[in-house]
Amino acid sequence: MPDERPPEPILHADLDAFYASVEMLKDPSLAGKPVIVGGVGGRGVVSSASYEARGFGVRSAMPTVRARRLCPDGVFVPPDFEAYQAHSNRFREVLLAHTPFVEPISLDEAFLDVGGATMLFGEPRAIAARIRAEVEREVGVTCSVGVAPTKFVAKLASDHCKPNGMLVVPAEGVLGFLEPLPVGRLWGVGEKTGEVLSRLAVRTIGDLAATPEPILARLLGEQHARHLTQLAHGVDDRHVVPYEPPKSVGHVETFEVDLDDDEILLRELLALSGKVASRLRADGYRARTVTMKVRLATFTTLTRSKTSTDPTDVGADLYHTVAELYRALPGERRRVRLLGVQASGLVSAGAEQLALLRGERWGDVERAVDRIEHRFGRGAAMPASLLDRSRRDRPI
Ligand SMILES: [Mg+2]
Repeated sequence: MPDERPPEPILHADLDAFYASVEMLKDPSLAGKPVIVGGVGGRGVVSSASYEARGFGVRSAMPTVRARRLCPDGVFVPPDFEAYQAHSNRFREVLLAHTPFVEPISLDEAFLDVGGATMLFGEPRAIAARIRAEVEREVGVTCSVGVAPTKFVAKLASDHCKPNGMLVVPAEGVLGFLEPLPVGRLWGVGEKTGEVLSRLAVRTIGDLAATPEPILARLLGEQHARHLTQLAHGVDDRHVVPYEPPKSVGHVETFEVDLDDDEILLRELLALSGKVASRLRADGYRARTVTMKVRLATFTTLTRSKTSTDPTDVGADLYHTVAELYRALPGERRRVRLLGVQASGLVSAGAEQLALLRGERWGDVERAVDRIEHRFGRGAAMPASLLDRSRRDRPI
């Protein structure tokens, strides 16, 4: 078993045609069809295209109107970010089960440093294979993984082996792998730099590596030239910066006038609990501990918390605890200037979110509320007691 840091410790894992693949999971009749996810309005833009649609020349960031011309029989679907977020949370969980050194780049992409995970899971190649199998099983979407000594080579490697592939670029093979690739594939080569390079007849990364740095520096500036030359030689010393899960999620409300009516204060706590719960669900966490903060008109702050063995992401549960804490406060009438609800002791909830999304516990009211609010804006749906308040506030 390897006991020291392997020469190729960096993985880049990338879900294949992520949004389009999730749409196919939601509606299996779409499998094998050219699926295009994006804004369906006149100014809409493609955000993801299945590989079948890519066969027609459809690409991300292309205007939907153009995609329709290229692929008139394509299935055009508006994005469903709740579903993508839930699948992404589960993807993150699978990666984190292999190493804490996971740096997410977007919902469907992450770097991993598995240099310290080899004792447990074998060499990086074996870890990549495990991750690919587990992601497909647990998320339902295939992923491609590049394995390399550095971040940018790992990223180029996963691009190279898509879809549903794996490519290991060994340390001694980096220059050979980079050489034939178009220079535009390097980070930091945009349109402008690309033009300058093409004037120098630099088309591939190999061409760039063969160009003396002082010549590049004259045209691109010293720093940029240095950076590109290093990349062209396979040098990239950026580390994987691990994702730090949040320690807590909270909301506070400061009132314009001090409140002293318990009923109104409890309603505010209900609203805060709902906000906290909906943040927890969006980020894929459940909380064990709920903390309530009450700042009195005298500026004394009372903080009370309660920890449960059963973590939750449901607003009604949070509120139940918070209301209990509030009612247990000493004294009678109090004038309150600020209320806060905070959830901590967070545990990941991605697997559970997916189960829900797949209808395994259907009819969850608060998730339905999330969907409604996503579509119609915050406040479009609210608990009855809040509805009651908004009615009361309306002038008669
Ligand atoms: Mg992707």
